[in-house]
Amino acid sequence: RYPVNFDNRISRLPAETPTGRKKMEARIGNSVLALIQGDITQEDTDAIVNAANTGLRGGGGVDGAIHRAGGPSIMAECRRIGGCPTGQAVITTGGKMKARYVIHTVGPVYRDGSHGEAELLASAYRESLKMASARHLKSLSFPAISAGVYGYPLEEAARIALQTVIDYLKKNRDIELVRFVLFNQSTYDAFSNALGKLLPGE
Ligand code: ADP
Repeated sequence: RYPVNFDNRISRLPAETPTGRKKMEARIGNSVLALIQGDITQEDTDAIVNAANTGLRGGGGVDGAIHRAGGPSIMAECRRIGGCPTGQAVITTGGKMKARYVIHTVGPVYRDGSHGEAELLASAYRESLKMASARHLKSLSFPAISAGVYGYPLEEAARIALQTVIDYLKKNRDIELVRFVLFNQSTYDAFSNALGKLLPGE
């Protein structure tokens, strides 16, 4: 269970947590949606989501960090799986990380916005959530998919990410916690601004 200690729909918790990291939480239906700044490889949720590539070959950014932290068992499973189309998701062990599973999803490479990018990005989040539900997982951490090397404009990437997760949590009450683990200040700020706009009423 992940209790939230407030009654309104959205709460800017103390601007700084005791560790100095920023945090924001909202209750969506049965679930908690949280934003934190941090390194997703350190998360203790049931699964973390990787922003993978279609070949599941590893790479830089969050993908590289996850393979480094989790060790070679993750790549061994990725090789057996073989690949993952853009907008879809597959699941492997979490290896040496605290999270038991890694859900690998592939976001779109952003071109100009007219190549189905928005729908593919929403699909990457939705398919990851569906995978977590199928495995009866209760908690899940996401990075900002496509918002690094894949070049998705940050504001729009944040809005699509949050809207897709909010829609899912409203309809599906099985997942108790979805946490966005945002690596740097600008990404955190984009998500926190977008969440403030999507859930007015504080
Ligand atoms: P993509 O290829 O989908 O754009 P990237 O890994 O390049 O994926 O970037 C996605 C996001 O992940 C970026 O916001 C980047 O800053 C962030 N990121 C990189 N390393 C980590 C990490 N260890 N934990 C969480 N987020 C990370």
